[in-house]
Order: sequence, then C-alpha cells, then structure tokens
Amino acid sequence: MIRRVPLGLSNKHIHLSQEDLDYLYGEGHELTPVKMLRQPGQFAAAEKVTIIGPKGKLENVRVLGPVRKETQLEVNICDGFTLGINKVPIRLSGHLEDTPGFIIEGPDGRRLVKDKGMIVAERHIHLSKEEGELYNIKDKDIVSVRFKGPRGLVFNNVLCRVGDGHLSEMHIDIEEGNAAGARNNQLVCIIDPLTFSSEEVLLQDKGERVFMVGDLPTIEVQDQDQKNLDKEVVERAKRAEKEEAAAK
Ligand SMILES: [Zn+2]
Repeated sequence: MIRRVPLGLSNKHIHLSQEDLDYLYGEGHELTPVKMLRQPGQFAAAEKVTIIGPKGKLENVRVLGPVRKETQLEVNICDGFTLGINKVPIRLSGHLEDTPGFIIEGPDGRRLVKDKGMIVAERHIHLSKEEGELYNIKDKDIVSVRFKGPRGLVFNNVLCRVGDGHLSEMHIDIEEGNAAGARNNQLVCIIDPLTFSSEEVLLQDKGERVFMVGDLPTIEVQDQDQKNLDKEVVERAKRAEKEEAAAK
C-alpha cells in the first residue's frame, strides 16, 4: 500500500500559556483565530509578538492557538542564529526541560522573560487512530518519508503521533522543507524497509512510478561493497606476503 500524507510546513511560531497571554495582552485576552490549521482545533492567531535573544530579535512571530499549558517557541535553526542561540535543541512539542530561554515583547512593548521553552520542532507525522490502523503505524513508530521532485529527499527519523485529536499530516519546518524544495499540502510518502523489497528501489525520479523505501537497502549494498573491498585487500596482502617469501 502506498501511504501518503499531506505536508504542513511550519515557520517560526509561538504557543502561549493563558498566564503569559494575559501578561502580554491584558487580563483575560482571547486569541483571535485567522486561519484554522489541519490539526483539529488548532489555529493561527492574529496576534504576533517579538522574540528577543542575546544577539538579535525576531519580529512578527505568529502566535498559534489555542493556549497551551506552557509557553513554547518553535524556531528554525537559522532563527536561533539570529537570536544568538546556536544550539537550540530538537525536541518534540511539550518537552521543554533544559531548553533555552528568551524574552517575549508584546504589542505595547511589555516584556516577559522566559527561562526555557525554545525548541526546533522534531519532524513528525500526525495520524488519526483510523489512519494509523489503515497504514499499520502505531503511536511513536519511527518511519522514513520520501519527497519527490528535483530536490527529492528521504527524511529519516520521523516520529509518528497516532491517536484521537490527530489528522494525517507531516510537519517539518521551513528549512527542512526548502532543503527538499517542498510545498505546503504536497503529498509525501511514508516508507520503510518492510514496505518494499530492495529490488524495487529506484534511486532517481524520472517522472514515472517510483518505488519508495528507506535507506536500509542502500546501506546493505554499501556494506557488501565494503566487505568485497576488505576481502580483496586481505587477499592482495596475502599474495604480496607469498611473493615476498618466494623471492627470499
Ligand atoms: Zn505537528
């Protein structure tokens, strides 16, 4: 079965707790939805904030709703460089222990200091329970995902989040997407070594049907080449030894 999911590209954005939203926008402020996202209940809000780091700032950072238990800033790796934080950890949403802090500046210049919460989002796929069953994928499974096109890539280490409250969609950030020349809503294909046999691996897109598989068979081929090479080197060394002995 070909297991396709639509792609959602994430630019830098922030999730705010109600407490932090109150501080920045005033007591009891409610986020204004401007665009519903594919994941049920999630939306892009009209609210935008400025993020300040040790060396620079990011303006017009979109707030995503609804409010969360904890404030979380999701950036591209290059946004970290702009802020002066060169090692923003790659984390799954909600895993904020030992992550860098930052300052949030609200619309009227009010500043809030956060001592943690900055992450680069770990690439992942959302699937509903039913979609997970159909695709034979369980919550927390790791898969590879194939992107076609002139900058085609296979993304490895893609975590699957399966369950109620999710709908089929792969989330990567803009940098990952640009690396693959990807567009929002394009269909990408979940692959793994079990999906197809190694004979079906085609390494080039030629506009025809492309069989898709993770990187494992390729590594096996390389391993085999290396073994042959090792064997040849050993044999050559033995031959040289013999010839040397014969010459004495
Ligand atoms: Zn997501």
